[in-house]
Amino acid sequence: MSWRCSSTTNEGLVNNLWKHGLLSTPRIREAMVAVDRAQFTREMPYEDSPQRIGYDATISAPHIHANALETLKEYIKPGSNILDIGSGSGYLCAVMAHLIAPNGKVTGIDHIPQITSLSIANLRKNPVTSEMLDSGLISIVTGDGRLGYPPNAPYDAIHVGAAAMDVHQPLLEQLKSPGRMFIPVAEGGSMYGGQAVWQIDKDEKGNVSRKRLYGVMYVPLTDAKKFED
Ligand code: SAH
Repeated sequence: MSWRCSSTTNEGLVNNLWKHGLLSTPRIREAMVAVDRAQFTREMPYEDSPQRIGYDATISAPHIHANALETLKEYIKPGSNILDIGSGSGYLCAVMAHLIAPNGKVTGIDHIPQITSLSIANLRKNPVTSEMLDSGLISIVTGDGRLGYPPNAPYDAIHVGAAAMDVHQPLLEQLKSPGRMFIPVAEGGSMYGGQAVWQIDKDEKGNVSRKRLYGVMYVPLTDAKKFED
């Protein structure tokens, strides 16, 4: 299904995701049209596939981003406070920022300093996302995402863009009541035994429920490696 969504323009790509039912919410479609994927990856930006961005990281495929946004949409509204773990290229932070503007906050966290610098440079390529960095609507920080990011917690939504061995306790603690987390988790105790995306909901009373959505293959959430430039 996904390859059929590829196009030669950003709008064409988003329209194809819509046409094939991978995207169904008009405001998410608008936000994805407003953010040109070519700002975040140079090679084949309008292909519906993941691409390498360096430092062992990849920008996720557009249909994966669309599904993550659709899954979290009730919690990504104007004014929402969002944490994007393993923010990589910065693409999803940009789309989420359009969805929470004018007065929410998106914090992107990645553990490789070269990657956080790259994402800031990507966000600076467009005056709208550049202004969002200046105003603090978007913050990009370097750190271990398995610990969340306590200074800006609690979050309406937490998106995890790399596969975890478990649903880490600090992330559950930093989720609002109510709030929702999208997290790929390794199955069978090993990263190579398969992974599945889980939707974790915390209700108004703080009760937590978990729902397995579908099998996936993400880059793992790991200890940071040192990269020489
Ligand atoms: N959503 C991003 C996905 C990037 S790939 C995008 O579409 O561009 C996954 C990212 O997770 C990589 O950038 C990697 O550096 C980061 N990562 C891996 N382990 C991490 C950890 N423990 N803490 C924070 N980031 C981590």
